[in-house]
Amino acid sequence: VLLLSGGLDSAVLLASLVGDGLDPICLSFDYNQRHRRELDSAKRIAGFYRVEHIVVPLTGVFGPNALTSESVELPTGHYEDEAMSATVVPNRNMVFLSIATALALSRGLSKVWYGAHGGDSAIYPDCRPRFVSAMGQAMLLCDGKPVELIAPFLGMKKRDVVRCGVGLDVPFDLTWTCYKGGVSPCGVCGACVERAEAFAENGLCES
Ligand SMILES: [Zn+2]
Repeated sequence: VLLLSGGLDSAVLLASLVGDGLDPICLSFDYNQRHRRELDSAKRIAGFYRVEHIVVPLTGVFGPNALTSESVELPTGHYEDEAMSATVVPNRNMVFLSIATALALSRGLSKVWYGAHGGDSAIYPDCRPRFVSAMGQAMLLCDGKPVELIAPFLGMKKRDVVRCGVGLDVPFDLTWTCYKGGVSPCGVCGACVERAEAFAENGLCES
């Protein structure tokens, strides 16, 4: 099972898994994110790679914050700035990983793939190596059958993930990064800034 957000990192991870001959089930969540447009991207990416895609509704679980409510201002600036902590959805990824684990067990699968990368660690506690390690331990023990949590980008920077994706011919134009949602990326939120930097550091520019 692969957590597929519709963003760049999980798309690269999907490309890598398909390239290795695997056929993962992709899992996305509708948690009332203001950038729910990413769910359309996730659907298109899963379609591109011809893998099963499930969207789980989780509305009403997470309270209003900058990522889930239009009434909370979305911070601009760098992805690793302290101001970006307004975009933390408390315990979101533990919930996602837990549901992915249940899906894996119900389908007789033994691995969950998670596309968190090193740059996520600054602001998001549920992307940090200590969390991933602890969650991985719980996933090994939560049932009679162990489920392995694999986060291959955890020690990589976003630019490294982009480079990996370029090598795998990932259709980046299908992915969605901007926290704001809307028709086109805003260019100034932390997620947009980090994405642009990662491409620029590879000598690339998205129009
Ligand atoms: Zn943006």
